[in-house]
Amino acid sequence: MNRSFSGLEERYAEVARLVGDEAAKFNSNVKLLAVSKTFPAEAVLECARLGQRAFGENYAQEGVEKVLWFKNRHPELELEWHFIGPLQANKTRPVAENFDWVESLCRERIARRLSDQRPAGMPPLNVLIEVNADAEEGKSGVDFDEAEAFAELVAGMPNLVLRGLMAIPRADAGEEETRATFARLRELFERLKAVHPLVDTLSMGMSADFAAAIAEGSTEVRVGSAIFGARDYSQR
Ligand SMILES: *Cc1c(COP(=O)(O)O)cnc(C)c1O
Repeated sequence: MNRSFSGLEERYAEVARLVGDEAAKFNSNVKLLAVSKTFPAEAVLECARLGQRAFGENYAQEGVEKVLWFKNRHPELELEWHFIGPLQANKTRPVAENFDWVESLCRERIARRLSDQRPAGMPPLNVLIEVNADAEEGKSGVDFDEAEAFAELVAGMPNLVLRGLMAIPRADAGEEETRATFARLRELFERLKAVHPLVDTLSMGMSADFAAAIAEGSTEVRVGSAIFGARDYSQR
């Protein structure tokens, strides 16, 4: 490879080690999702060659371009793609046709479209319900109190598999408040698991707080900048 992303190897190794160490403390298995939004396919390739399999993308068009780049050039890597950003109705088809997971499900209309548009030849789409856990105004996600009813609805859709919950705690919260939010999400997750046998994923924790999230029972952390470096949004 002629192009190298400065420091990626060291940062990835460090994050993977920390996630593994934290998970071991709590005797749990935690999936590391590498959030590659705004970074080029070549950076994803370098990360994949270090052993990473699951990648998260926020924007439909950018994400689909990367998925197709890998399908065409590196099908042997068998990467797993998670859509984690806000999803509008006019972008559901490319997401339904190209991603393995959608973690940001919070509207019935979007869920129905994803289920309808999932191609017959593909396995059902794995979905997480995004919860607006701190009831922040203007933030996506279902209300905490509505999550179970929405889960019921989603679980009945033929081409979706309800796998669990995703949440982003408020960005300006202190550590204690963030941990309390994680703990409440964990309780909701346990209630959901008791009703829906395929639920196994609690996606919480990002670069700044993944250790606390794992301590509170996260099963998947979504880590971007700690692996790929600071994002540059000026190209978007
Ligand atoms: C960007 C993003 C992340 C990764 O954030 P970092 O702070 O860079 O780790 C995780 N989850 C979602 C939903 C995101 O949009």
